[in-house]
Amino acid sequence: MATSKGIRYHDSVHTHVEALEERVPGKPAELKKLATLGIETVGDLLAHYPWRYADSREVTDIAGLAVGRNVSLVAQVRSAEVRLAQKTGKPRVEAKVTDGARTLDLVIFMPHRGAADFHVKRLVPGSLGLFSGQINVFSGRLQLANPTYAIFRHEVDEAVALEEAEWPIPIYPATAGLESDKIRAKVREVLAPLTEADVPDPVPDVVRAERHLASRWSALRGVHVPQTEDDWRKGQARLRYEEAFVLQVELARRRAHAQREESTARPARSGGLLEAFDARLPFVLTDGQVAAGEQIAADLARSHPMQRLLQGEVGSGKTVVALRAMLQVVDAGGQAALLAPTSVLAAQHVRTLRALLGDLAEGGLLGGSEIGTRVALLTGAQSTAERRSNLLEAASGQAGIVVGTHALLSDPVQFADLGLVVIDEQHKFGVEQRGRLQAKAANAPHLLVTTATPIPRTVAMTVFGELEISELRHVPAGRSGITTHVVPADNRPWMDRTWNRVREEVERGGRAFVVCARIDADDEADGADAADGAEMVPDEPATVGEAQAAAQRAPRKPLRAVLEVAETLRDDPRLGGAAVGLLHGRMTSEEKDRAIADFTSGRTPVLVSTTVIEVGVDVPAATIMVILDAHVFGLSQLHQLRGRVGRGSAPGLCLLVADAPEGTVAAQRLGALAATTDGFELARVDLELRREGDVLGSAQSGKRGTLRFLRIVSDGAVIDRARDDAQALVETDPELAAWPALRAAIDLQLADGREEFLGQS
Ligand code: ADP
Ligand code: MG
Repeated sequence: MATSKGIRYHDSVHTHVEALEERVPGKPAELKKLATLGIETVGDLLAHYPWRYADSREVTDIAGLAVGRNVSLVAQVRSAEVRLAQKTGKPRVEAKVTDGARTLDLVIFMPHRGAADFHVKRLVPGSLGLFSGQINVFSGRLQLANPTYAIFRHEVDEAVALEEAEWPIPIYPATAGLESDKIRAKVREVLAPLTEADVPDPVPDVVRAERHLASRWSALRGVHVPQTEDDWRKGQARLRYEEAFVLQVELARRRAHAQREESTARPARSGGLLEAFDARLPFVLTDGQVAAGEQIAADLARSHPMQRLLQGEVGSGKTVVALRAMLQVVDAGGQAALLAPTSVLAAQHVRTLRALLGDLAEGGLLGGSEIGTRVALLTGAQSTAERRSNLLEAASGQAGIVVGTHALLSDPVQFADLGLVVIDEQHKFGVEQRGRLQAKAANAPHLLVTTATPIPRTVAMTVFGELEISELRHVPAGRSGITTHVVPADNRPWMDRTWNRVREEVERGGRAFVVCARIDADDEADGADAADGAEMVPDEPATVGEAQAAAQRAPRKPLRAVLEVAETLRDDPRLGGAAVGLLHGRMTSEEKDRAIADFTSGRTPVLVSTTVIEVGVDVPAATIMVILDAHVFGLSQLHQLRGRVGRGSAPGLCLLVADAPEGTVAAQRLGALAATTDGFELARVDLELRREGDVLGSAQSGKRGTLRFLRIVSDGAVIDRARDDAQALVETDPELAAWPALRAAIDLQLADGREEFLGQS
């Protein structure tokens, strides 16, 4: 939650805030219902925004209604009459309303005849009204029982009715017993007496003037009591900007905070490790690698800590860029720490670094290079002796590069002079962990974060907004690429073909990954490895009605597990006797290392694995990957996974075995994956397919202070503007001393889980 960088503003000046802090007036029963929507104060109520606007000229399509749904629909009355119950004699109003094509039954139960007659008088055939309530089924027909309603025309006071009918009618998220209409009335009641002075505005006047934005007060009037469509659209636009602005001010403040910190400058030096390394690189750096390298080199030469995100396509060569940054720091007399999400990956990084560096990594050893350094590995699973010698190398400064997992964060690890922290595959680390490693340096170390898969720029600017961004858009030339197909799990011939393809690849000298979601049958999912839990979004139904329908469907087949799949594949004639290895999170580090070594060497050319292989495992001979139960994995996770094949000169093939009926989100996700290998494009699709709430973590509850109007995927232009304005404001007034309302708004956003969202990623 609160991090070292999160400065709180509890001293906020509460000028004029009182009106909004007051409790909503009303009867206890009503207030209780409001409380279930998270509404207690006037401010809460005014932040309960309409989710749509009905127009009296628009008629809702009755064909689209579903059982269980709370609806508000505009329809025309066709008939209305009073009926009496046969046994009890109780009256009820039976009415029919129409959208022009279909009709919907309405029933209103009444205690006595007079009340029923009253309704029939209002429900004049031909009149148009707004009807709200829950759709249910009676005698096989859809009906709306005891709806609340407002008739637009043929009201008693026709003049008022006609005027009102012209307005867009705000429809609020409602709850049982508290329909949109009642909420609307309540909002009007509390909004009416408020003046500009009662509604503090977090957006400063100067910014408002420049961006032609309304005041917060008039934006609230616009969204709650609009007279025209333009009113609510302008109001929403203003509130959308405000959400972006408040968030970007907080991020600009964090950047400014880092800028004020001191760091040791580590300028590039000639005749050092970096030059020697570049001279022996077996390939030419891509343009993107060169450009990112220059940005990083310049950052490192400054005496303020670098805060940079390096994001790029799977296989675009982020590791080389990071390594070059580390070498620059070592050349300047400092040390660099590289943090990997798993011990498998940490060990692999050490192998890669040593291979790339050759004798440059044998500093202090006989035959090693004079300018050389050492690469030390620190993971939780090492023997005591091994660990002690590595700790010593880190503390003495002998090791210029220290690679590890989160074990690096544990207390006994000391550095002689930590100058740079590289966090590989960022999404596994929280801000807090970043902070802990930074605390190990006397001066704030430079920081480079790399992402596992690309994320859209606007998301990067929001989620990693305190970081500058470098991008690698392209993979090195000469890769043969990868083809992806979706294989329906219940299609026998296709499954046969899948396993035959595996055999063919193996016979040709290739390696095959088989990925499963779980380790064994008792597992929920491979929790240890699927650290990317948030990525494993099952198909979330979009509405309550769909959720109920989904619950009624037969339970899904259990997910395939590593141990079971490995066992059956060993005897599977379709694999032609190929040796099968295993890899999962419950194995020890040595077992994992051995499994990868056997796979690389071809002793076990088929590797059945969990998502441990997701992050960065680099086996150039791997040409085919079969992902079982592909529908339970997230899109970026699948893209990352398939990035493990087709890395060498032979083309890669990825087969997504899935149980994903047409039309489901899972089917769309897999279809998108088969259609493109552009990670940036996939990231965009992914975010579109997810609901905004998933993008924003826990911030979807509809409470105050969460992002309600801003869509970080599509509102890039708004975010850009807000970021510029925020930057300018923070430059002139870093502590926001002149802007108490802005400070209060930041507090509110952070208090409601925004901090978690900023930090989580
Ligand atoms: P990422 O971490 O971005 O997914 P890696 O850094 O693991 O990618 O690089 C993938 C592979 O590409 C590695 O084997 C690496 O040595 C190789 N590589 C990196 N840069 C280049 C380049 N410019 N040309 C050719 N191969 C490269
Ligand atoms: Mg990598």
